[in-house]
Amino acid sequence: EATKSKSLIEQTEKYGANNYHPLPIVISKAEGVWVEDPEGTKYMDMLSAYSAVNQGHRHPKIIQALKDQADRVTLTSRAFHNDQLGPWYEMICEITNKEMALPMNTGAEAVETAIKAARRWAYDVKGVADNQAEIIACVGNFHGRTMTAVSLSSEEEYKRGFGPMLPGIKLIPYGDLDALKEAITENTAAFLIEPIQGEAGIVIPPEGFLKQAYETCKENNVLFIADEIQAGLARSGKMFACEWEGVDPDMYILGKALGGGVFPISCVVANKDVLGVFNPGSHGSTFGGNPMACAVSVASMNVLVEEKLAERSLKLGEYFMGKLKEINNPAIKEVRGRGLFIGVELNEPARKYCEELKEEGLLCKETHDTVIRFAPPLVISEEELDWAIERIKKVLS
Ligand code: PLP
Repeated sequence: EATKSKSLIEQTEKYGANNYHPLPIVISKAEGVWVEDPEGTKYMDMLSAYSAVNQGHRHPKIIQALKDQADRVTLTSRAFHNDQLGPWYEMICEITNKEMALPMNTGAEAVETAIKAARRWAYDVKGVADNQAEIIACVGNFHGRTMTAVSLSSEEEYKRGFGPMLPGIKLIPYGDLDALKEAITENTAAFLIEPIQGEAGIVIPPEGFLKQAYETCKENNVLFIADEIQAGLARSGKMFACEWEGVDPDMYILGKALGGGVFPISCVVANKDVLGVFNPGSHGSTFGGNPMACAVSVASMNVLVEEKLAERSLKLGEYFMGKLKEINNPAIKEVRGRGLFIGVELNEPARKYCEELKEEGLLCKETHDTVIRFAPPLVISEEELDWAIERIKKVLS
């Protein structure tokens, strides 16, 4: 009987603020690419918690790190040192080839951190006049839900009723190099960009844009900040989506899979000339850099590297996208993506298809109304992808 799920959904709807519209399914167990509801029905997860579970649900090595750390120490605050933070710093700097990192908890907080760093860099290093620093971001961006992040947004619904917005922000169309050049002034601190826009519907910039935008930033002494919270950490078939154009950004913003879907952790990573602008008292977080998050994050990054999840995503993504492109349906406008980060854009709302896919045992979530996002855990096998393709064909043909 479906009563357990039903009553849990009713309880959630009765007491919860109404800020989400989930598919009507309750998940009470998960392993790898599979999740299960309280009635024991299994589903394949094709969302991966918006790419936070790239390593698969409850990866044994990550869970072990969590358990081991829970038996030692969970929180010290940054009033004291803890023995997990140093190793985490070194690991993340090695992976990104940067000199310094600053850990926070959620993606939006890391975005806040990046904006604070860029603004202070503008004043202290670049020499911008007080309170004049500008940030350039892109139409269609998603950087989270805090006031800074919604101030960056071009979505009216993300901003309505939340004003006044943060000043000093300019938006350019995603992928428009001329617009970027026009928007830059002597006061520009940074250009903030998702190398692939996730929430906008897996939007890939025109070829060459990232590279040219980076060069434009260098010519104008503007920081190039890559929000790789969703596209990074192996999702797009490379460790970082910027690698698709050989761009080494001045700052990475990371989150989601940084904690393997097990424990929240986010960060910004950059060289000393940028992140060195912070001093004691200028920024922080009670939970930022806590030993649980650090231990889990080190294990999560080890899994990405040891299991070659970027290469896996690249190979399986090509296979999967090829199969999706074979589907013949006039409702399909475009199939696009990189690695296992794939969007199927329709000429009509995607919600109905997501509901039908759920009935077939496949969990997907529409993004921007008309796009079905396929982003399974990167540990998925080719056989499991075939299983998914069969069902997707049935629903989409
Ligand atoms: N930036 C990007 C590119 C994202 O995709 C997201 C979340 O979807 C965020 C920032 C915000 O992260 P969080 O929800 O952890 O605050």
